[in-house]
Amino acid sequence: MTQLTGDKTECEIIGLLDEFNIVSPLRDYFIVSTEFHSYPAPGMLIGVFMVDLALEVLNVGPKDRLYAVSETKKCAPDPLQVILHCTIGNNRLRIIETGRFAIALNLGSKEEWSRGVRVYADLEKLEYFPKIHTWIAKKASFHSKEKSCELNREIFKAGRKILSWERVRVNIPKKEQWNSVVCPSCGEMFPDIYIHGSTCGACGPLKYYEKVCG
Ligand SMILES: [Zn+2]
Repeated sequence: MTQLTGDKTECEIIGLLDEFNIVSPLRDYFIVSTEFHSYPAPGMLIGVFMVDLALEVLNVGPKDRLYAVSETKKCAPDPLQVILHCTIGNNRLRIIETGRFAIALNLGSKEEWSRGVRVYADLEKLEYFPKIHTWIAKKASFHSKEKSCELNREIFKAGRKILSWERVRVNIPKKEQWNSVVCPSCGEMFPDIYIHGSTCGACGPLKYYEKVCG
């Protein structure tokens, strides 16, 4: 069984797992996700319930080769990465920012589409869980520790009860063809699909650093 090694807010998550009798493998999903995310953020906790539900609907396990979409970059991508190993780096996680609190999972395919499931926070069901509803709608601040604990408790109380799912077919992105070019400004090599004007992005609109001495 996975164990947390830190101490900060981790006691809170262990306390909630015990209180709500969350057993493995779901218990392990919460522990590794909390460790990976660095604290038990509400969106990450809901994301764990979403991943667990999606796996069940698809009748697959976390070791199966899956592909994921997160419709928000907040919190939800982390359970997908650490539980399913669908990562940005291995190109099995896409973040398509619709802003909705939803994920989709699908199997690999050589076709244009693949069978999958989409899990989302259901507005009608959120009515019964006012703290979560308020948090998702950003109607009030949950920055205080006390409020955050209350919110997380309601998330465990709700579990899947705030979620709905639908069977979907997910588009498979085509691999982009590219050739390597050298930026005339910095002299570094990059794929031509990233040209901005006549230079690489960093020598153009994507500039994010300045060189400093020392
Ligand atoms: Zn350049």
